[in-house]
Amino acid sequence: MAAKIIDGKAIAAEVREELARELQELRAAGADPGIATLMVGDDFGAGMYRGAVEKFCVEMGLGYRNEQLPADTDEATVVAAVRSLNDDPSVAGILPLRPFPAQVSDSAVINSIDVGKDVDCFHPFNMGRLTLNEPTFPPATPAACIELLERHIKAEGKDVTDALEGAEVCVVGHSNIVGKPLALLLLNRNATTTVSHVFTSNRGNLAKHTSVADILIVAAGVPNLIGPDLVKEGAVVLDVGINRVVVCPVCGTLNRSKKNPCRACGSDLAEAQQKTVGDVDFDAVAAKASAITPVPGGVGAVTNMMLARNTLRAARQRLGEPQ
Ligand code: NAP
Repeated sequence: MAAKIIDGKAIAAEVREELARELQELRAAGADPGIATLMVGDDFGAGMYRGAVEKFCVEMGLGYRNEQLPADTDEATVVAAVRSLNDDPSVAGILPLRPFPAQVSDSAVINSIDVGKDVDCFHPFNMGRLTLNEPTFPPATPAACIELLERHIKAEGKDVTDALEGAEVCVVGHSNIVGKPLALLLLNRNATTTVSHVFTSNRGNLAKHTSVADILIVAAGVPNLIGPDLVKEGAVVLDVGINRVVVCPVCGTLNRSKKNPCRACGSDLAEAQQKTVGDVDFDAVAAKASAITPVPGGVGAVTNMMLARNTLRAARQRLGEPQ
Protein backbone atom coordinates (compact mmCIF):
# COMPACT_ATOMS: atom_id res chain seq x y z
CA MET A 1 0.00 0.00 0.00
CA ALA A 2 1.32 3.48 -0.85
CA ALA A 3 0.13 5.85 1.87
CA LYS A 4 -1.72 9.05 1.20
CA ILE A 5 0.39 11.97 2.45
CA ILE A 6 -1.58 14.09 4.92
CA ASP A 7 -0.41 17.55 3.88
CA GLY A 8 -0.03 19.72 6.99
CA LYS A 9 0.87 22.82 4.97
CA ALA A 10 -2.31 22.60 2.88
CA ILE A 11 -4.45 22.02 5.99
CA ALA A 12 -2.73 24.92 7.78
CA ALA A 13 -3.59 27.16 4.81
CA GLU A 14 -7.27 26.13 5.03
CA VAL A 15 -7.37 26.82 8.78
CA ARG A 16 -5.61 30.15 8.23
CA GLU A 17 -8.36 31.29 5.85
CA GLU A 18 -11.05 30.32 8.36
CA LEU A 19 -9.24 32.18 11.13
CA ALA A 20 -8.67 35.28 8.97
CA ARG A 21 -12.47 35.56 8.55
CA GLU A 22 -12.98 35.12 12.32
CA LEU A 23 -10.35 37.77 13.04
CA GLN A 24 -12.18 40.25 10.78
CA GLU A 25 -15.42 39.57 12.67
CA LEU A 26 -13.68 40.07 16.01
CA ARG A 27 -12.16 43.35 14.84
CA ALA A 28 -15.58 44.52 13.71
CA ALA A 29 -16.82 43.70 17.22
CA GLY A 30 -14.09 45.88 18.74
CA ALA A 31 -11.41 43.31 19.70
CA ASP A 32 -7.78 43.44 18.58
CA PRO A 33 -6.39 40.16 19.88
CA GLY A 34 -2.68 39.57 20.37
CA ILE A 35 -0.30 37.01 21.85
CA ALA A 36 2.36 37.81 24.45
CA THR A 37 5.38 35.60 25.00
CA LEU A 38 7.23 35.63 28.30
CA MET A 39 10.93 34.77 28.26
CA VAL A 40 13.35 34.74 31.19
CA GLY A 41 17.01 34.59 30.09
CA ASP A 42 18.22 33.66 26.62
CA ASP A 43 17.74 29.92 26.14
CA PHE A 44 18.44 29.18 22.45
CA GLY A 45 15.40 26.92 21.86
CA ALA A 46 13.02 29.30 23.63
CA GLY A 47 14.46 32.18 21.56
CA MET A 48 13.89 30.24 18.32
CA TYR A 49 10.29 29.54 19.31
CA ARG A 50 9.77 33.19 20.34
CA GLY A 51 10.91 34.33 16.89
CA ALA A 52 8.60 31.82 15.21
CA VAL A 53 5.60 33.02 17.27
CA GLU A 54 6.36 36.66 16.43
CA LYS A 55 6.67 35.88 12.69
CA PHE A 56 3.45 33.94 12.64
CA CYS A 57 1.54 36.64 14.58
CA VAL A 58 2.70 39.25 12.05
CA GLU A 59 1.63 36.98 9.16
CA MET A 60 -1.78 36.32 10.74
CA GLY A 61 -2.38 39.99 11.62
CA LEU A 62 -2.43 39.22 15.35
CA GLY A 63 -0.87 41.63 17.83
CA TYR A 64 2.39 40.50 19.43
CA ARG A 65 4.56 41.54 22.36
CA ASN A 66 7.42 39.87 24.20
CA GLU A 67 8.05 40.33 27.90
CA GLN A 68 11.81 39.71 28.10
CA LEU A 69 13.40 39.42 31.54
CA PRO A 70 17.08 38.91 32.43
CA ALA A 71 18.24 35.42 33.49
CA ASP A 72 18.81 36.53 37.12
CA THR A 73 15.23 37.81 37.61
CA ASP A 74 13.68 36.48 40.83
CA GLU A 75 10.46 34.46 40.81
CA ALA A 76 8.29 37.20 42.35
CA THR A 77 9.27 39.62 39.56
CA VAL A 78 8.45 37.03 36.88
CA VAL A 79 5.05 36.39 38.48
CA ALA A 80 4.44 40.17 38.60
CA ALA A 81 5.24 40.34 34.86
CA VAL A 82 2.66 37.61 34.19
CA ARG A 83 0.07 39.54 36.22
CA SER A 84 0.75 42.66 34.16
CA LEU A 85 0.11 40.61 30.98
CA ASN A 86 -3.09 39.31 32.60
CA ASP A 87 -4.20 42.95 33.03
CA ASP A 88 -3.23 44.09 29.50
CA PRO A 89 -6.41 44.22 27.34
CA SER A 90 -4.38 43.96 24.11
CA VAL A 91 -3.10 40.51 25.21
CA ALA A 92 -5.61 37.73 24.50
CA GLY A 93 -3.15 34.86 24.94
CA ILE A 94 -0.04 34.37 27.11
CA LEU A 95 2.71 31.91 26.20
CA PRO A 96 5.41 31.27 28.82
CA LEU A 97 8.54 30.13 26.99
CA ARG A 98 10.41 27.49 28.97
CA PRO A 99 12.93 26.57 30.24
CA PHE A 100 13.10 29.15 33.01
CA PRO A 101 16.26 29.68 35.08
CA ALA A 102 16.56 27.48 38.19
CA GLN A 103 15.31 30.16 40.65
CA VAL A 104 11.95 30.42 38.78
CA SER A 105 9.60 27.47 39.15
CA ASP A 106 7.43 26.50 36.19
CA SER A 107 4.40 26.03 38.41
CA ALA A 108 4.68 29.50 40.02
CA VAL A 109 4.60 31.10 36.57
CA ILE A 110 1.94 28.84 35.07
CA ASN A 111 -0.37 29.10 38.09
CA SER A 112 -0.26 32.89 37.85
CA ILE A 113 -1.54 33.01 34.23
CA ASP A 114 -5.15 34.17 33.86
CA VAL A 115 -6.92 30.92 32.88
CA GLY A 116 -8.83 32.89 30.22
CA LYS A 117 -5.52 33.76 28.53
CA ASP A 118 -3.86 30.34 28.90
CA VAL A 119 -4.02 29.59 25.16
CA ASP A 120 -1.65 26.59 25.20
CA CYS A 121 -3.41 24.91 28.14
CA PHE A 122 -0.56 24.97 30.65
CA HIS A 123 -2.65 25.90 33.70
CA PRO A 124 -3.92 22.97 35.85
CA PHE A 125 -7.44 24.48 35.69
CA ASN A 126 -7.51 24.16 31.90
CA MET A 127 -5.87 20.71 31.95
CA GLY A 128 -8.59 19.71 34.43
CA ARG A 129 -11.28 20.95 32.07
CA LEU A 130 -9.64 19.00 29.25
CA THR A 131 -9.73 15.87 31.42
CA LEU A 132 -13.43 16.44 32.15
CA ASN A 133 -14.18 17.09 28.44
CA GLU A 134 -15.35 20.62 29.22
CA PRO A 135 -14.70 23.60 26.89
CA THR A 136 -11.10 24.77 27.22
CA PHE A 137 -8.05 25.72 25.14
CA PRO A 138 -6.81 22.36 23.82
CA PRO A 139 -2.98 22.51 23.70
CA ALA A 140 -1.67 23.39 20.26
CA THR A 141 0.30 20.30 19.24
CA PRO A 142 -2.28 17.70 20.35
CA ALA A 143 -5.01 19.88 18.80
CA ALA A 144 -3.02 19.90 15.54
CA CYS A 145 -2.99 16.08 15.57
CA ILE A 146 -6.77 15.98 16.02
CA GLU A 147 -7.27 18.60 13.28
CA LEU A 148 -5.16 16.59 10.81
CA LEU A 149 -6.87 13.34 11.75
CA GLU A 150 -10.41 14.71 11.52
CA ARG A 151 -9.79 16.51 8.21
CA HIS A 152 -8.21 13.32 6.81
CA ILE A 153 -11.24 11.26 7.89
CA LYS A 154 -13.62 13.79 6.28
CA ALA A 155 -11.54 13.86 3.09
CA GLU A 156 -11.98 10.08 2.93
CA GLY A 157 -15.76 10.66 2.91
CA LYS A 158 -16.22 9.14 6.39
CA ASP A 159 -18.04 10.37 9.46
CA VAL A 160 -15.55 11.59 12.08
CA THR A 161 -17.52 10.38 15.11
CA ASP A 162 -18.07 6.92 13.64
CA ALA A 163 -14.44 6.65 12.56
CA LEU A 164 -13.04 7.51 15.99
CA GLU A 165 -15.52 5.85 18.35
CA GLY A 166 -13.99 2.56 19.45
CA ALA A 167 -11.03 2.89 17.05
CA GLU A 168 -7.78 1.38 18.30
CA VAL A 169 -5.46 4.37 18.76
CA CYS A 170 -1.93 4.18 20.13
CA VAL A 171 -0.09 7.31 21.31
CA VAL A 172 3.67 6.88 21.75
CA GLY A 173 4.95 9.38 24.35
CA HIS A 174 3.31 10.62 27.54
CA SER A 175 4.73 14.11 28.03
CA ASN A 176 2.56 16.73 29.70
CA ILE A 177 2.53 18.90 26.58
CA VAL A 178 1.90 16.31 23.86
CA GLY A 179 1.23 12.66 24.72
CA LYS A 180 -0.96 13.03 27.81
CA PRO A 181 -3.32 15.77 26.56
CA LEU A 182 -3.49 14.06 23.15
CA ALA A 183 -4.61 10.84 24.83
CA LEU A 184 -7.31 12.84 26.65
CA LEU A 185 -8.54 14.45 23.42
CA LEU A 186 -8.78 10.96 21.87
CA LEU A 187 -10.54 9.48 24.92
CA ASN A 188 -12.98 12.39 24.78
CA ARG A 189 -13.80 11.20 21.24
CA ASN A 190 -14.37 7.66 22.59
CA ALA A 191 -11.34 6.13 20.88
CA THR A 192 -9.84 3.05 22.54
CA THR A 193 -6.65 4.84 23.48
CA THR A 194 -3.41 3.19 24.53
CA VAL A 195 -0.45 5.28 25.70
CA SER A 196 3.06 3.81 25.41
CA HIS A 197 6.28 5.37 26.56
CA VAL A 198 9.89 4.63 27.29
CA PHE A 199 9.03 2.06 29.97
CA THR A 200 6.84 0.22 27.44
CA SER A 201 9.88 0.07 25.13
CA ASN A 202 12.19 -0.96 27.99
CA ARG A 203 10.02 -4.04 28.55
CA GLY A 204 10.09 -4.82 24.82
CA ASN A 205 6.33 -4.20 24.57
CA LEU A 206 6.16 -1.26 22.15
CA ALA A 207 5.26 -3.36 19.06
CA LYS A 208 2.52 -5.14 21.02
CA HIS A 209 0.64 -1.84 21.30
CA THR A 210 1.62 0.00 18.10
CA SER A 211 1.04 -2.91 15.73
CA VAL A 212 -2.68 -3.25 16.58
CA ALA A 213 -3.40 0.48 16.20
CA ASP A 214 -5.70 1.71 13.41
CA ILE A 215 -4.33 5.16 14.23
CA LEU A 216 -0.77 5.54 15.48
CA ILE A 217 0.47 8.91 16.78
CA VAL A 218 4.14 9.15 17.69
CA ALA A 219 5.62 11.90 19.92
CA ALA A 220 8.80 10.46 21.39
CA GLY A 221 11.65 12.58 20.00
CA VAL A 222 13.51 9.46 18.79
CA PRO A 223 14.44 9.38 15.07
CA ASN A 224 13.24 6.22 13.27
CA LEU A 225 11.71 4.79 16.46
CA ILE A 226 8.81 3.45 14.40
CA GLY A 227 9.62 1.16 11.48
CA PRO A 228 7.14 -0.87 9.39
CA ASP A 229 7.41 -3.86 11.74
CA LEU A 230 5.65 -1.77 14.42
CA VAL A 231 2.80 -0.61 12.17
CA LYS A 232 -0.48 -2.31 11.24
CA GLU A 233 -1.18 -2.66 7.50
CA GLY A 234 -3.41 0.28 6.48
CA ALA A 235 -2.93 2.31 9.69
CA VAL A 236 -3.09 6.11 9.74
CA VAL A 237 0.23 7.35 11.13
CA LEU A 238 0.82 10.85 12.54
CA ASP A 239 4.42 11.77 13.30
CA VAL A 240 4.82 14.56 15.88
CA GLY A 241 8.59 14.15 16.32
CA ILE A 242 10.98 16.86 15.19
CA ASN A 243 14.59 15.68 15.33
CA ARG A 244 17.65 17.39 13.89
CA VAL A 245 19.97 14.58 12.76
CA VAL A 246 23.32 14.10 11.06
CA VAL A 247 23.25 11.61 8.18
CA CYS A 248 26.33 9.39 7.87
CA PRO A 249 27.65 9.85 4.28
CA VAL A 250 28.95 6.26 4.24
CA CYS A 251 26.15 4.08 5.67
CA GLY A 252 23.20 6.52 5.92
CA THR A 253 22.69 5.98 9.68
CA LEU A 254 21.07 8.91 11.51
CA ASN A 255 23.28 10.33 14.28
CA ARG A 256 22.61 13.01 16.88
CA SER A 257 25.88 14.95 16.58
CA LYS A 258 28.71 15.72 14.15
CA LYS A 259 31.21 15.62 17.01
CA ASN A 260 31.30 11.83 17.41
CA PRO A 261 32.02 9.18 14.76
CA CYS A 262 29.00 7.43 13.17
CA ARG A 263 27.43 5.11 15.75
CA ALA A 264 27.01 2.36 13.11
CA CYS A 265 30.17 2.39 10.96
CA GLY A 266 32.55 4.74 12.82
CA SER A 267 32.94 7.19 9.88
CA ASP A 268 33.91 10.79 10.58
CA LEU A 269 30.80 13.04 10.51
CA ALA A 270 32.46 16.49 10.56
CA GLU A 271 31.32 17.27 6.97
CA ALA A 272 28.08 15.23 7.08
CA GLN A 273 24.72 16.73 6.05
CA GLN A 274 22.09 17.59 8.67
CA LYS A 275 18.35 17.18 8.20
CA THR A 276 15.09 17.26 10.14
CA VAL A 277 13.23 13.97 10.55
CA GLY A 278 10.35 12.71 12.65
CA ASP A 279 10.09 9.63 14.86
CA VAL A 280 8.79 7.44 12.02
CA ASP A 281 10.89 5.81 9.29
CA PHE A 282 8.85 7.69 6.68
CA ASP A 283 9.60 5.82 3.42
CA ALA A 284 9.37 2.34 4.91
CA VAL A 285 6.19 3.06 6.92
CA ALA A 286 4.55 4.89 3.98
CA ALA A 287 4.69 1.60 2.07
CA LYS A 288 2.50 -0.05 4.72
CA ALA A 289 0.26 2.70 6.14
CA SER A 290 -2.89 4.06 4.45
CA ALA A 291 -1.99 7.66 5.35
CA ILE A 292 0.97 9.39 6.97
CA THR A 293 2.15 12.89 7.93
CA PRO A 294 5.58 14.02 6.70
CA VAL A 295 8.21 15.82 8.80
CA PRO A 296 8.57 18.69 8.12
CA GLY A 297 5.21 19.72 6.67
CA GLY A 298 2.90 17.64 8.86
CA VAL A 299 1.83 18.22 12.46
CA GLY A 300 4.30 21.09 13.00
CA ALA A 301 2.78 23.09 10.14
CA VAL A 302 -0.64 23.13 11.85
CA THR A 303 0.45 23.73 15.46
CA ASN A 304 0.62 27.54 15.30
CA MET A 305 -2.82 27.67 13.67
CA MET A 306 -4.24 25.93 16.75
CA LEU A 307 -2.57 28.54 18.94
CA ALA A 308 -4.16 31.28 16.82
CA ARG A 309 -7.55 29.55 17.04
CA ASN A 310 -7.31 29.44 20.84
CA THR A 311 -6.28 33.10 20.92
CA LEU A 312 -9.36 34.10 18.92
CA ARG A 313 -11.49 31.94 21.23
CA ALA A 314 -9.98 33.76 24.24
CA ALA A 315 -10.75 37.12 22.62
CA ARG A 316 -14.35 36.05 21.97
CA GLN A 317 -14.70 34.99 25.61
CA ARG A 318 -13.56 38.46 26.66
CA LEU A 319 -16.23 40.02 24.47
CA GLY A 320 -18.77 37.75 26.15
CA GLU A 321 -19.55 36.03 22.83
CA PRO A 322 -20.51 32.35 22.60
CA GLN A 323 -17.59 29.98 21.91
P1 NAP B 1 9.39 14.71 25.72
O1 NAP B 1 8.88 15.57 26.80
O2 NAP B 1 10.84 14.38 25.65
O3 NAP B 1 8.56 13.34 25.77
C1 NAP B 1 8.89 12.27 24.94
C2 NAP B 1 8.01 11.10 25.29
O4 NAP B 1 8.41 9.98 24.50
C3 NAP B 1 8.14 10.68 26.75
O5 NAP B 1 6.87 10.29 27.23
C4 NAP B 1 9.07 9.46 26.67
O6 NAP B 1 8.81 8.51 27.68
C5 NAP B 1 8.69 8.86 25.34
N1 NAP B 1 9.78 8.10 24.77
C6 NAP B 1 11.09 8.45 24.67
N2 NAP B 1 11.80 7.45 24.11
C7 NAP B 1 10.92 6.45 23.86
C8 NAP B 1 11.05 5.14 23.34
N3 NAP B 1 12.23 4.66 22.95
N4 NAP B 1 9.94 4.38 23.25
C9 NAP B 1 8.73 4.83 23.66
N5 NAP B 1 8.55 6.07 24.18
C10 NAP B 1 9.63 6.86 24.28
O7 NAP B 1 9.03 15.32 24.28
P2 NAP B 1 7.72 16.13 23.79
O8 NAP B 1 7.85 17.52 24.22
O9 NAP B 1 6.50 15.35 24.11
O10 NAP B 1 7.98 16.08 22.22
C11 NAP B 1 8.05 14.83 21.54
C12 NAP B 1 8.55 15.08 20.11
O11 NAP B 1 7.61 15.93 19.46
C13 NAP B 1 9.89 15.81 20.03
O12 NAP B 1 10.58 15.34 18.89
C14 NAP B 1 9.50 17.26 19.84
O13 NAP B 1 10.49 18.00 19.15
C15 NAP B 1 8.27 17.10 19.01
N6 NAP B 1 7.32 18.22 19.13
C16 NAP B 1 6.72 18.63 17.99
C17 NAP B 1 5.81 19.65 18.04
C18 NAP B 1 5.12 20.07 16.77
O14 NAP B 1 4.52 21.12 16.72
N7 NAP B 1 5.17 19.24 15.73
C19 NAP B 1 5.51 20.28 19.25
C20 NAP B 1 6.08 19.79 20.43
C21 NAP B 1 6.99 18.75 20.36
P3 NAP B 1 9.34 8.78 29.23
O15 NAP B 1 8.68 10.04 29.68
O16 NAP B 1 8.84 7.59 29.96
O17 NAP B 1 10.82 8.92 29.12
